[in-house]
Amino acid sequence: MKIKLPKLHNQILIGLILGAIFGSIFKVNTHLLIIKTIKNNQLVESSIKNWKKVTFLKIDGLKEISFESDQQLEIISHFKKLKLQETDFGLQVETDNVEKFENVLFIGKEETIAQSIKWIGDIFIRLLNMIAVPLVLASLIVGAASLGDIKKFARIGSKTLAFYLITTAIAIAIGLMIANVIRPGEIMNPETKDRLMSVYQPDLQSKLESEVGFSVKEMIVDLVPRNPFGAIANSQMLQIVFFSVMVGMVLTLIKKEKANFVINFFDGLSEVMIRLVDVVMLIAPIGVFALISATVSEFGFDILQTLFWYAATLLIGLALHTFGVYALIVRLFSKIKVKTFFKGIRRMQAIAFTTSSSAATLPVNMEVCQENLGVSKSITSFVLPLGATINMDGTAMYQGVAAVFIAQVFGMDLTIGQQLTIILTAVLASIGTAPVPGVGIIMLIIVLKSAGIPEEGIALIMGVDRILDMCRTVVNVTGDAAVCCAVASSEDEILIVNS
Ligand code: ASP
Repeated sequence: MKIKLPKLHNQILIGLILGAIFGSIFKVNTHLLIIKTIKNNQLVESSIKNWKKVTFLKIDGLKEISFESDQQLEIISHFKKLKLQETDFGLQVETDNVEKFENVLFIGKEETIAQSIKWIGDIFIRLLNMIAVPLVLASLIVGAASLGDIKKFARIGSKTLAFYLITTAIAIAIGLMIANVIRPGEIMNPETKDRLMSVYQPDLQSKLESEVGFSVKEMIVDLVPRNPFGAIANSQMLQIVFFSVMVGMVLTLIKKEKANFVINFFDGLSEVMIRLVDVVMLIAPIGVFALISATVSEFGFDILQTLFWYAATLLIGLALHTFGVYALIVRLFSKIKVKTFFKGIRRMQAIAFTTSSSAATLPVNMEVCQENLGVSKSITSFVLPLGATINMDGTAMYQGVAAVFIAQVFGMDLTIGQQLTIILTAVLASIGTAPVPGVGIIMLIIVLKSAGIPEEGIALIMGVDRILDMCRTVVNVTGDAAVCCAVASSEDEILIVNS
């Protein structure tokens, strides 16, 4: 007898739910520390359970500092800080007896089975990313060329850009409004603030170091790749987009026979990439399971409680934007029913949620928009790769909410001028955000700087970033799909009748 498997999007959903359950069963123990030391030239690993007190002992005139039994994160973070300063220290751990450690190489959490399977998820993300760059290149070249002539190109291009920019600005405005009403930063007490600042300081350091310089002029200059192959090799999405659109556009200006040869080649390449997605999707349920279980097992849900109001503010904003603004766009500007739209993109949203990457989700987005929503290939190949790179409403809203939240915690009252600056810089920062996990928080530095909000405030929100990244990525890609439907409808490029 042949067993009938559930549909792919249901398989992915099942993978997601089971992964979350598996991850919460095999959670990382918050009362267990792994300590690695060098003893007689050998690496010794000890696992310490249920300590009562952990003290970093002074060597080199360092101050002694102790942590209690519920301060696993603080201990690990203090260790990272000391390692960054390359200082020498000893460790005294009190359980039922007292143990001392010297030459400490590592203090960290245990690895549970839920994390040891993460590599399967990593392969899944890599496979999707592997497809993303050639797909953006090929489909944008074909997409831009298939718009036929410069006039049509300019019309569709400006419509798409207008939708993208306006929805992004609306997203930030919604975020700022909700943050000003709920005022999550004022709910946080000063002890929690100090604790978060000290725990996440070492991680913040590396983020601040990776900070990119930012000016509008530079951003425009940076759009142009010196060497397109270099841009491809380094996954410089904005540069790849620029190059592909230029090539696609110019293909309409050269002789047909020559142009067709190039177009056919890239059309074939994009077709292959889309087919490759089907193959990769075969392991999607397992990949999703592995990724979610690793995240859930490691995620400190306590921190979600601590930052509850901040997270809630953002989530309310994201939900409003998705079910309000996008639903309205689909309703007003497309021939697709709102219900059909959301039903059709479920699988793509699940992939965005688990991978936290618009680039990795792009191939799936193109597939569902063509197959489930009936948008023509020429529109999806132009609108979606562009959107994956420049249209990030969720990220922009997150940057707005985070900026206001940090300002509130630091007791700053933002003027209208500062809030307008946030809207402007967050639009630009979200365009410049690479479509991969965790970049939004780095670009947030730019937004904070421009509005004069202390950058070190990022340490406050770092603990929940992973989970919020997953949610904002879903909004980023849903926005691309909604605009794609609207542009396609306006050009009469919806190929099947949607019921
Ligand atoms: N992960 C997001 C994306 O790929 C970007 C970010 O906000 O970090 O869309």
